[in-house]
Amino acid sequence: MNWDSQEIAKRIGADHPNKEAKPIKRILFDSRQFSMGEGQLFFALVGKHHDGHNYIEELYLKGIRVFVVQGISSNNFGDAIFLKVEDSLKALQMLGKGIRTSIDPRLVAVTGSNGKTVVKEWLYRLLAHQAKAYRSPKSFNSQIGVPLSLWGMPEDTEIGIFEAGISQPHEMHHLAEILKPRFGIFTNIGSAHGENFDSLEQKIEEKLKLFTEAELLVFPADQPILRKAIDSFASQRELNLLTWSFEEHQARAWFQILAKTSAGTSFQFKSPEGHLKGFVPFTDEASLQNVANALYLAIALGFEPESLRAPLKSLGPIEMRLEMKEGHQNSLLINDAYNSDLESLRVALHFLQEHGKDRSRVLILSDMLQSGLAPEELRIAMSEIIGSQNLEAVFAIGPQLSKAALDLPMPAHYFASTDEFLGQMTSYQWQDRAILLKGSRPFAFERIDSFLARQRHETVLEIHLNRLVHNLNFYRSRLKDGTKLMVMVKAFAYGAGIEEVARVLAFHGVDYLAVAYADEGVALRKAGITLPIMVLNPEQSALDSFFEYNLEPEVYSFRRLAEFKELAFQLGEPLKIHLKLETGMHRLGFSPDDLPRLIQILKQSPHLELASAFSHLAASDNPEEADFTRGQISRFKAMTLDLEAHFGTHFLKHIANTGAIESFPEAHFDMVRLGIGLYGVAAHPEEQAQLLTVAELKATVSQIKAVKAGDTVGYGRAWRAEEDATIAVISIGYADGFSRSLSNGIGKVWIKGKTYPVIGRVCMDMCMVSIGSDPIKEGDEVLIFGDALPVQEVAEAMNTIAYEVLTGISPRVKRVYFMA
Ligand SMILES: *Cc1c(COP(=O)(O)O)cnc(C)c1O
Repeated sequence: MNWDSQEIAKRIGADHPNKEAKPIKRILFDSRQFSMGEGQLFFALVGKHHDGHNYIEELYLKGIRVFVVQGISSNNFGDAIFLKVEDSLKALQMLGKGIRTSIDPRLVAVTGSNGKTVVKEWLYRLLAHQAKAYRSPKSFNSQIGVPLSLWGMPEDTEIGIFEAGISQPHEMHHLAEILKPRFGIFTNIGSAHGENFDSLEQKIEEKLKLFTEAELLVFPADQPILRKAIDSFASQRELNLLTWSFEEHQARAWFQILAKTSAGTSFQFKSPEGHLKGFVPFTDEASLQNVANALYLAIALGFEPESLRAPLKSLGPIEMRLEMKEGHQNSLLINDAYNSDLESLRVALHFLQEHGKDRSRVLILSDMLQSGLAPEELRIAMSEIIGSQNLEAVFAIGPQLSKAALDLPMPAHYFASTDEFLGQMTSYQWQDRAILLKGSRPFAFERIDSFLARQRHETVLEIHLNRLVHNLNFYRSRLKDGTKLMVMVKAFAYGAGIEEVARVLAFHGVDYLAVAYADEGVALRKAGITLPIMVLNPEQSALDSFFEYNLEPEVYSFRRLAEFKELAFQLGEPLKIHLKLETGMHRLGFSPDDLPRLIQILKQSPHLELASAFSHLAASDNPEEADFTRGQISRFKAMTLDLEAHFGTHFLKHIANTGAIESFPEAHFDMVRLGIGLYGVAAHPEEQAQLLTVAELKATVSQIKAVKAGDTVGYGRAWRAEEDATIAVISIGYADGFSRSLSNGIGKVWIKGKTYPVIGRVCMDMCMVSIGSDPIKEGDEVLIFGDALPVQEVAEAMNTIAYEVLTGISPRVKRVYFMA
């Protein structure tokens, strides 16, 4: 939209101050989205545990001059424009409605349990070559995402495709009022209704509110519960139901599967609205369902079925991921394969800056297709975004970019095509660089990626940083305002990679980090992390580094206390310390009897500053030990009261680990220490249901082999084939962290939707499974644990806990990072 602050004020019912209106190009609601440039407006949203108003000063100092606020004194911000509203979320939604009234494309809304984003993207790809189509970015489908998506819609859009999702009852009618869709797709319904809905029926009914005023709805007829709910919904209004099914005579349309090969599926689509024989490069049922949903809607919109054949054939998976991994020659490679647009360029550059802090950074980008902007406008916008970054060089690929160069303060090299770039690549320096790849699909940047990446590893631990952030926010939502959050990144961040995780945590504003040893803290400092860091085991050999690197030790004994006191005195430097109190774990810490002496020593140690006093719960994850836990909490309270009597209340008190955050709010005190929960593992099933899997350990099938009846497999001949069998050799063994205790059917792995028990003994670098006649090939991916096979199950089989499995994954297993 091209509205200025005056027009926006009018749309959201706010008074515009008597100042010149400012043009607005970009809307932010999270201070972390900030990037340099004019024309930004900040909506200060207020959530349960978050208040955007707290960031106004920071954003003002960075140059933002227009704010939508819920009543705040604007006196200190001379030249800024404050638009005051009662509820800034409602104002954002009003703005969305206003845009919808002034741009009226044929609007399609997509909802359902799974596949929303894929269906939205695929429908877009089916149509984009023959109509001016716009689709909401990424998975912007929420109460905030939908109005923001509308803001990005060009005025001449003919078909607008929007995703709508809800997490709570009563949310959908807001989205319906904003979007007013005429056309709809209900992708499918999953089997779980989630904690916020009473039943699946209630969830479907809520989602259907999106289509209250729609004319036409596409959905799969094969799910009886969905069909029944939609039939009853439609009986009360004029809504044409375009049902389809994989079976004949089950619905209005038939998506008939003709043949499946390894390359894809040939199908025939028959509906009263149109016929098409086509091919798609997938075979799995979920993808075919997504195809059928998108295809039927495209046909229903009146597009010639034949015109859809070519785009159907080239439908690819939706790359929505930003991947980070080691490259050649110690480089760091970030590949953002998401459709390239200005907003995602901004996000990716920010990610590059965060994770490539300690390196020279370069950007390799392609022409941006379908940005909706005129070439010159696009060139200016790209120049502004890229030019504000501190980059060593920019490599720009594509006819558009090489025709009209960007205005950049850093050196830029232009290439007409990816091939031309690949031909000249070796003449540039890639060593030690942090490299961001940002290419539109047709430019096939995966070829550059495979050139710069180290050889593909057969066994990798995939870390989903976006899901880690989700888990962080879940636990944060359980804290009262003002309670601080310390995150445990000891043991290589529970195996996930300490620097990468710490950077994300720093970005998301946690208060403290904790590591086990000083050298981990030093590594974080060298990586540019400035958050306070507590060190659980200050070894005697490393005492100096606490001063040199500004680390804060846990102090649990008089001996260590004396050493720190002495050293601080000699150096004449202050040191923040954290006292460990013994309340029932009986591991490290000062007991109540020690307090008088401890207090006396501290009073005579002007260089030691009491930063916090804390204790650790022995059984917070076990409801049967709740009384014991309460006992620990009350002993902790008593001991800290004693300390407060002498030192005041300035130091922090903390005792809660993951297990206590949800179950013992009374244990939160001033700060909680989040560990395993961040990594997606909770003690209680209800809590587990709210978390996302962060780490997925994946191996590959190295070889498929036929064995004859009577043959034995592996060391010790521990498994004997009863009959002729086919086995798969998998690229993971006990040296990777796949314990030998998983031998002989105790452990299992997951391949293409099925689990297979381990046969024989786990070797150092591999293990074997028997695969029957299943169509498994060499090179296929094998999941050791992850979404489809929870790490807790592996832990159980190993007779241990998830902590040990996660932290036991060998450093030789490469970590690859994803950010959606
Ligand atoms: C590891 C650790 C935690 C975190 O425990 P989780 O159960 O992983 O949440 C908290 N406090 C201390 C002192 C720890 O050592």
